[in-house]
Amino acid sequence: MVRHYFDHNATTPVSTEVLEVLLPALLEVYGNASSIHHFGQLAKQRLEMARRETASLLHCDPREVVFLSGGTEADNLAILGSVRSHPASEKHVITTTIEHPAVLNPCRQLEREGVDVTYVRVGSDGVVDPREIRSALRPDTILISVMHANNELGTIQPIQEIAAIAHDAGVLFHVDGVQAAGKIPVDVRSLGVDLYSISGHKLHAPKGIGALYVKNGTPLNSIQYGGRHERERRPGTENVPGAVALGRATAVAVENLGAESARIASLRDKLEQGILAHIPSCGVNGQSSPRTPNTTNMFFDGLEGEAMVISLDLKGFAVSSGSACSSGAVEPSHVLLAIGLSRERARASLRFSLGHSNTEEQVDALIDAAAESAAQLRKLSPTYTNA
Ligand code: PLP
Repeated sequence: MVRHYFDHNATTPVSTEVLEVLLPALLEVYGNASSIHHFGQLAKQRLEMARRETASLLHCDPREVVFLSGGTEADNLAILGSVRSHPASEKHVITTTIEHPAVLNPCRQLEREGVDVTYVRVGSDGVVDPREIRSALRPDTILISVMHANNELGTIQPIQEIAAIAHDAGVLFHVDGVQAAGKIPVDVRSLGVDLYSISGHKLHAPKGIGALYVKNGTPLNSIQYGGRHERERRPGTENVPGAVALGRATAVAVENLGAESARIASLRDKLEQGILAHIPSCGVNGQSSPRTPNTTNMFFDGLEGEAMVISLDLKGFAVSSGSACSSGAVEPSHVLLAIGLSRERARASLRFSLGHSNTEEQVDALIDAAAESAAQLRKLSPTYTNA
């Protein structure tokens, strides 16, 4: 069976451009970047080249880029590292209800350490209102953390406006950019952020590499204890091949932001319109908001998202439901509940996330397969009456 991948927000394949630099790096650049001999110095040189490439995606100084293992570690370091470095005894953090667990769970850990956290609600459009952030500010607020693009809906948050609010209040601002970098332009300086997380495997580099932008002068404690790597912000022998791959992936992503992004956006729109035209009782979650070009999240009333994922998988299409399986029960996505969907509609939703390998023919075939799966499953549905 030919299989087609429509789950690029979960992860992406390593691209040939990245593989071309990754393989020689794995074979030849094996020195420890801290060693003073030839092998070490070669590794150091490649690491710094990768840092410059990553910095150009983000539009920052290379010295502001910390390499680490991925998005989860970047978010943990940004949140725990900045809050723990703050000397105040009373501390307050603001985030939103639609963040990824890589942000929500470090915030819960801070609550266990005595820090107050406000989880600001978002509107039904999947976007946080900057005024809500402003009204959550307190004299003891030290950090705001808001994602750039939501992983399930693709909705883009008003980062510049929130940055202005944070800076007026003298509060640090972290942005989880894992789903934005490589999909929309990112300029940390014009956005006005202090900390910005990215992850390699979301932009065609391998798993196990990511980066945190740390604006020069931002107070940040390391959250691990070891050597003095990465300007004492992240100990551990550097993953040089990973960094080389991330550097190349960021350079390719910058090249692809124009025409390739537009191509993916038009495929996404075609998919959305095709599904809306061919399947009754469905709709798009968060459609009215600015979104990343590759993502759409759609509900199919009377269906179980998980059943659609399995049915489409059997037809050769990989998509995602966004639900989490906890203690044997399928829990609806916290993001979809946060935008006000009922539990039923949240459970009846699917995320399609497109990428470079997708073509118009694949989108046409996916529309047909989704219509067939929806009709088959609705026949069996005890709740669906509108067929
Ligand atoms: N933040 C967001 C918005 C994500 O979508 C993800 C991964 O899905 C992460 C953080 C975690 O990144 P990683 O898988 O690199 O740890």
